Amino acid sequence: MNTPNENPAISGIHHITAVAASAADNYRFYTRVLGLRLVKKTVNFDDPFTYHLYYGDETGRPGTILTFFPWEQLPRGKPGTGMVSAIAFAVPRFSIDYWNRRLNEYGIAVDTESRFGEPVIRFNDPHGLPLELIGTPASADLNSDGAVLRTAIMGFHSATLLLDRIDATEKIIVEGMGMTPVLREGSRYRFAMQDDNAPGHLLDVRVDPSAGRGRPGGGTVHHIAFRTRDNREQLSWRQRIRQHGLSVTDVRDRKYFQSIYFHEPGGVLFEIATDPPGFAVDEDPRHLGTTLKLPHQYEALRGQIEEQLPPLELTDFRHVYLPPEPGAKHGDSIVALHGTGGNEHDLIPVVRQISLSAPVISLRGNVLENGMPRFFKRLAEGMFDENDVRYHAHHLSDFLAEAARCYGPMDNHRIALGYSNGANMAAAIMLLRPDVFSRAILFRPMMPLKMTPGPDLACKSILITTGRFDRVIPSAETQRLVHTLKKAGASVEVVDMDAGHELTAGDIEAARSWLGRGPGRRCATTPSRIKNAA
Ligand code: ZN
Repeated sequence: MNTPNENPAISGIHHITAVAASAADNYRFYTRVLGLRLVKKTVNFDDPFTYHLYYGDETGRPGTILTFFPWEQLPRGKPGTGMVSAIAFAVPRFSIDYWNRRLNEYGIAVDTESRFGEPVIRFNDPHGLPLELIGTPASADLNSDGAVLRTAIMGFHSATLLLDRIDATEKIIVEGMGMTPVLREGSRYRFAMQDDNAPGHLLDVRVDPSAGRGRPGGGTVHHIAFRTRDNREQLSWRQRIRQHGLSVTDVRDRKYFQSIYFHEPGGVLFEIATDPPGFAVDEDPRHLGTTLKLPHQYEALRGQIEEQLPPLELTDFRHVYLPPEPGAKHGDSIVALHGTGGNEHDLIPVVRQISLSAPVISLRGNVLENGMPRFFKRLAEGMFDENDVRYHAHHLSDFLAEAARCYGPMDNHRIALGYSNGANMAAAIMLLRPDVFSRAILFRPMMPLKMTPGPDLACKSILITTGRFDRVIPSAETQRLVHTLKKAGASVEVVDMDAGHELTAGDIEAARSWLGRGPGRRCATTPSRIKNAA
């Protein structure tokens, strides 16, 4: 063991800060696709009209924190030498296939490789920032709950510095910062930091003079911060780095930590940040990241700042939300999905004829076909781009989870109400994300996916209405959907209308009476959450 002031050693990565473009895209990707938690929503202390967003694990431990300055219209930079060229997160080794599939379903291109015997998935975030997931043995010190534990990101694994040459940098990180060279594979050198029980205790250096100098901008890392225990230790670091001939800033107050900064000889901006006080200093740990936090000096500008910052949530679907009618018993909420060429207003009158009081969220599809909104692409009439169906089904499901957080009363007891293309999307979500809807009313649907994944729909009830003279939907395709849903265990009722593709009063009446009969005997018990709310 090293004694602190004689021969100190950096214990690990504290946080990494990168530059993004659109804040909403950034937020969506890191919270929905990667499943990180927004642990602090604040502003750039030098530019209070832009966000500073911090993502991390549930409690925002050092070693899990990736932060962003999103500048909405910023051109892309280019990762290159003199920068952190990749950020690696650790995931449990057995979850590597899961992550590969998940990224694919979200349409993200991935490369895989093996590095020092560990599997690596490489991909970029929406603004081009190079990220990696590295499979490691799941360690026992995780403090998340079991369900999330299985696949969730466990904090940083390592970061890679891309350099023209290693010698001067190696000298500072080994002799100055107390890191230990541990492995080498070709032009990649690995250094370990002291606290190997905490996330982010590895630093890689890749030497490639042909890579070209990095250009700052969207999708590049701004700096990497390393951990120090407290202010006293930080001051001794400051002295020590200066003794190595580098110029170091004064201590700066970042509210959640105190920081000093210096450029290492290869050009990468390093920070040394204190573990305390941490993110709970101005927010209850359970509610981290839920409200905009401003440093004292900007509180007077709060109104203007909130007005100018772009919204992070609920930006991907234009929608109408109708809260439950005052005095109405809290019941299931209805999610309305229109047909091709419709919009978020079309189905509202239909929904209100079926249920007078249910909370409703009605969405506008965000895929355009000759200017007509839809919920996924089609290659021709009745021919779907299946990858696109999957992508949008996940996207919409995630949006509904976000809507539930924003609007409150919506929960897992959502009823899908879809017409035509909207009904197909609702059916796809039923098959791909069975947790999203408890029941569904599908007017004129057909089978949206060729492959049937075989979900468990045992507790779901579904009403399907068809038009006997419908020229748009081949009845065999509706049959196939009915068959698939039944095979998965759903209770399906089919009502044939003396109608074409258009929605009729008969459809609405059928839906109203079906809904009035309740969720069916197999699912008659309402969860306690609903009871409490009533
Ligand atoms: Zn920083």
